[in-house]
Formats: sequence, structure tokens, C-alpha cells
Amino acid sequence: MPRTAVISDIHANLHALSAVIEDVQAEQCTDIVCLGDVVGYNAYPRECLDYIRSLNCPVVKGNHDEEVLHEEHYTRMNPVARQAMEWTRAQLSDEDLTWLSRLQYQRIVRSQFTMVHSGLDQPKAWNYIFNANDATGSFQKQFSMLCFHGHTHAPKVFVWDGHRAVDYSYLLEGLDENGVVEVPLTPSVKHFINVGSVGQPRDGDPRACYAIYDSDAQTVLFKRVEYDVTGAQQAILSVGLPEYLAERLEKGM
Ligand code: ZN
Repeated sequence: MPRTAVISDIHANLHALSAVIEDVQAEQCTDIVCLGDVVGYNAYPRECLDYIRSLNCPVVKGNHDEEVLHEEHYTRMNPVARQAMEWTRAQLSDEDLTWLSRLQYQRIVRSQFTMVHSGLDQPKAWNYIFNANDATGSFQKQFSMLCFHGHTHAPKVFVWDGHRAVDYSYLLEGLDENGVVEVPLTPSVKHFINVGSVGQPRDGDPRACYAIYDSDAQTVLFKRVEYDVTGAQQAILSVGLPEYLAERLEKGM
């Protein structure tokens, strides 16, 4: 039974990544894909890169994976982002940077689904897709029934009804006591699904978020996973990254 774990926006949070991978194993997923932003914000960029590479899974490039390569862009960032980016860059080897630079912007996996960090219409523009209107352009370039994305750090379900994009994210409000909700896919309808963030959720729930695609059942399971938030915060402070990056983890913002 093929069950693909879809993870995104790890952002160098090793505590969250380890907890999610443990959950992926407990769920007996058969494979895993990563939608980018492996680095940035948190304290373990090198370790998370090593971890992701060791999984030997399909990965697409996120904006942080790209921005860290371009020191000439750092001056345009706000002070918190700039400090985090400079620190992250200093942790990475030339080999790490080369690996990041070679990531593709989008990929199709087993002819079943597409993966992209932001949107399919302009994957290098890093547009934020918050609502159905924002999702319209991406649907025009989506040629598979299913596409997974990340980037906003908030889980979402968008569907193309043949004429326009519709936001079905209310389906995600029914999380059970274990932090799980299952979304059935509608046959022959295009779905554009944001799997949320492993390492820095921003939807008010501080638990790590990821999804499991079951290609037999045609369902996507969204899961929230508890992890050692305090440990991740302490690591941020101990390496001298901005305090704000630690604070936001416990608020899920
Ligand atoms: Zn991100």
C-alpha cells in the first residue's frame, strides 16, 4: 500500500524533523518527499540537510534554500532574516551549498503528483498562496490531479472546480484528539494541497505538521506531531540567533 509522507519547511529544526520522521516510520509510510526550505530560521541547518540527504528522497528547492546561496541579496532582508541567513550560511560547507543549488523547482513523482515549494505558474517568484484567488495561476499550470506545496507554513486544500479555484480548507478543522484529519480526494478533480510546516508552523498550532498521501485510498492524511519545542528554542538562543525565532515556535506563528 503506497503511503507517501510529504514534508515541507523544515527550517533547520532538527527536534521537529526527528519527531516527524519517527511518526512517518510509525505510520509505515513507504516513501517520503520534501518540498523545500530545509534551512533557515532554526539552529540545525547542517544536521537537517544531512538528515534529508540520508533519506535519499525527491526534494524541491525552497526560497531559503535559494536565498542562502546569494549573499548579495542579504542586504535587502529585514534585520532578523538577515542575521539568521548570515548565520545559516556560515554553518554550511561548499558541498552543502552546491547540493542546494542543484535542487529543481518542481518535480513530478511516479506520474502521480507534482511537488513545488510555492506555486507552479512562477515557481521562482516565491509567491505566497494564502487563498483561492492566489491559487488560480498555479492551477493553470497544474497538469496532474494532485500537487503538493508549502511556503506559507499553513496547511490548506484548494480544488479546481473546472472554472475557478475553491478553498476547501474547512476540511482541516476536524482534527481529532491525536491531531489527525483525513481529506478524501475527489476523482478527476485537480487538488493543490499545502502540507504545512515541519519546523515553523504559522497557523496557531505549534505542533509540527505534515501529510500522508495514500494513493490506493486516494486520501491525504494531515498530521500534527508534538515535539520538543523547548529544546529547539534553547538551541536557537544558544547559537545566538534572534530571540524572536524562539518565541514564535511556541506560538505557532
Ligand atoms: Zn518556509
